[in-house]
Amino acid sequence: MATPYWSAFGTSDGWQGYGNGKMPASKLCRIAGGHKLRCDAAAQYGKLADAYEAHFRQKLCITDSYRSYRAQIDLLRRKPDLAAFPGTSNHGWGVAVDLCDGINDFGTPQHEWMLANAPAHGWINPDWAREGGSRQEPWHWEFAQVP
Ligand SMILES: [Zn+2]
Repeated sequence: MATPYWSAFGTSDGWQGYGNGKMPASKLCRIAGGHKLRCDAAAQYGKLADAYEAHFRQKLCITDSYRSYRAQIDLLRRKPDLAAFPGTSNHGWGVAVDLCDGINDFGTPQHEWMLANAPAHGWINPDWAREGGSRQEPWHWEFAQVP
């Protein structure tokens, strides 16, 4: 039976005993640009980035990844309209990225390519973030599961 995508995330009880934004360095893996993700998400991100680069001849553009609890508080202070409440962001579980270079707008070739190809690598633009969703964030992608 397929695992529902949200089970990849921690809950209020934490993920393997760790709280949101309190992931130990040993559970995080480095991806391009000095960014970090939970290691299973990082591995699939690498495959997605390779596929993207093969298609567009451009590196997959990323602005944000794992966010520590402290960074979530800082972001809320700087961008109160955009930031999730500290401790509730999937960035705090190391399974979310914010992408750029066209992916951050609906309807661009880059965004359309991502919608068509990212799920095969386990990455999705969640329903709430989609065009017409409750909080449209075309740049925000989450690691769901490897299909
Ligand atoms: Zn995001």
